[in-house]
Amino acid sequence: ETDEKAMRAGAQDYLVKGTFNPYDLERSIRYSIEHAKSLAEIQKLNTELEQRVEERTQELAMAIHNLEKANRTLKKAQTEIYKALQKEKELHELKSRFVTIASHEFRTPLSTVLSSASLITKYKSAEDDEKRLKHVGRIKSAVHNLTNILNDFLSISRMEEGKIHNVPSTFDLQSFSSEVVDEMQGFMKEGQRIHYQHEGDQQTVYLDKQLMRNVMINLLSNGGKYSGEASTIWFTTPIIGDIVKLEVRDEGIGIPDEDKSHLFTPFFRAQNVTNIQGTGLGLNIVKKYVEIMGGELRYESQLDHGTTFTITLPYTAQI
Ligand code: ADP
Repeated sequence: ETDEKAMRAGAQDYLVKGTFNPYDLERSIRYSIEHAKSLAEIQKLNTELEQRVEERTQELAMAIHNLEKANRTLKKAQTEIYKALQKEKELHELKSRFVTIASHEFRTPLSTVLSSASLITKYKSAEDDEKRLKHVGRIKSAVHNLTNILNDFLSISRMEEGKIHNVPSTFDLQSFSSEVVDEMQGFMKEGQRIHYQHEGDQQTVYLDKQLMRNVMINLLSNGGKYSGEASTIWFTTPIIGDIVKLEVRDEGIGIPDEDKSHLFTPFFRAQNVTNIQGTGLGLNIVKKYVEIMGGELRYESQLDHGTTFTITLPYTAQI
């Protein structure tokens, strides 16, 4: 009973009053001192151990953190490599399509150049002047076609490389458009004409000239290409409030309804144009250029009646 009470009170040992001798006392004190020493030692070891566990836990946490970071970097690198690979594949695809299309599309204008050039050498008298001029015209338009195809490919590859940027400057839209129209007029079909009109009091715009020129040339040449001889291509550039519009309307072959959803896909050509030269790249370029300039592109078309392309650009006067 005494033993139990002493233990409950926290004693390591005890001596019963009047029953112990100096020897027992001395032994008991020595035992207690030794015991206290061991206890202190154990506590010290325990604290050290806890400290080491804490340190190791921190080291492990750090190692896990670093591993996770490395993992994230690896994953990012993996995605980037995958993207680069995809891009490379697309470029490769583009290049092989270029070879196919170029070899196909170059043949017709090149044979026109060849035949017209050899015919010109045969027309020697002054009466043949008209015929000569006709063939010179054919050569010019064939070379123009070739240049267009090359320009389209160049634009696509520059876009793929992210090299096309919006570099606006201030210019007069009306005189700029008139110049483009004059240039394009020379490449229209027999009797075809471009009717150009600017609308609105404002004429000065702050836009990228290079991109605008390319967009206009593409739309006007499509207008001519996909409509008959002696037809008119209507071109207007109204500035209304805070928007600039480019509108190109033709009364040509139009676009079949079932082809409309693919119109802006690179290399896509509608089923009613198989006899007309083209790469199927122009509209894709136009759409991207318009987006780069912060604008929008819409069109309406009715088979055998005509097509209207409308581009809406933000009007910012920077004078
Ligand atoms: P391309 O004219 O070289 O074929 P585009 O990208 O300029 O290439 O046009 C893609 C297709 O859209 C054309 O092949 C044609 O089917 C159709 N298209 C474009 N503009 C017109 C238009 N003004 N009238 C009728 N069809 C058009």
